[in-house]
Amino acid sequence: MIFEQIAVGQMQNFSYLIGDEESKEAAVVDPAWENDKILSIAKKHDLDIKMILVTHTDYDHISGVKDMVNATDATVYAHKEGEEGIKNLGISKIQAIDEGSEIDIGKLKVKVLYTPGHNPTQCCFLLDNKLITGDTLFVEGCGRVDMPGGDIKKQWESLQRLKKLDENIGVYPGHDYGSMPNSTIKHEKENNPYMRCDSFEEFSTIR
Ligand SMILES: [Zn+2]
Repeated sequence: MIFEQIAVGQMQNFSYLIGDEESKEAAVVDPAWENDKILSIAKKHDLDIKMILVTHTDYDHISGVKDMVNATDATVYAHKEGEEGIKNLGISKIQAIDEGSEIDIGKLKVKVLYTPGHNPTQCCFLLDNKLITGDTLFVEGCGRVDMPGGDIKKQWESLQRLKKLDENIGVYPGHDYGSMPNSTIKHEKENNPYMRCDSFEEFSTIR
């Protein structure tokens, strides 16, 4: 598997490139700000971008989606609550996803976890032992809940759910806000104040 974490733009965003070495099929997660950078890495690996996966439809995560579609003719996979927003970018090849959806990238399988809270369109993508978390979970932090569509209770529930995952699973966030670009569920359970909370009451006082 080819897996690249790509720092893009001025808001410390991460895009991701996932490629199947055999078929050369690839997906880009959250193309934004610097498509040239993403496309040149795909070219270096000789990958054919067939899919665009959207963790959520905030502008800083989708600013490159339309141009990436124009460059690759890829299908856009986004949560069903975000389908309209993607359509409004002038895109027609959209696949709505939800909890439990599976996306095949060649022989690779991506499992969709619906994790609202930061945003009603927010999904995490599980690929082997890697979890792409968007703005649900950052290294030592979590997405804010005070923006349109934010819901603190749902964010708490989504984080509680991620706490139950295998501790060795890698955490690959939507922004580079922590002490390192990626970590593990174990690291977050031990070091992330939002994951260390034992009750919603405690969570709601710090978030
Ligand atoms: Zn963001």
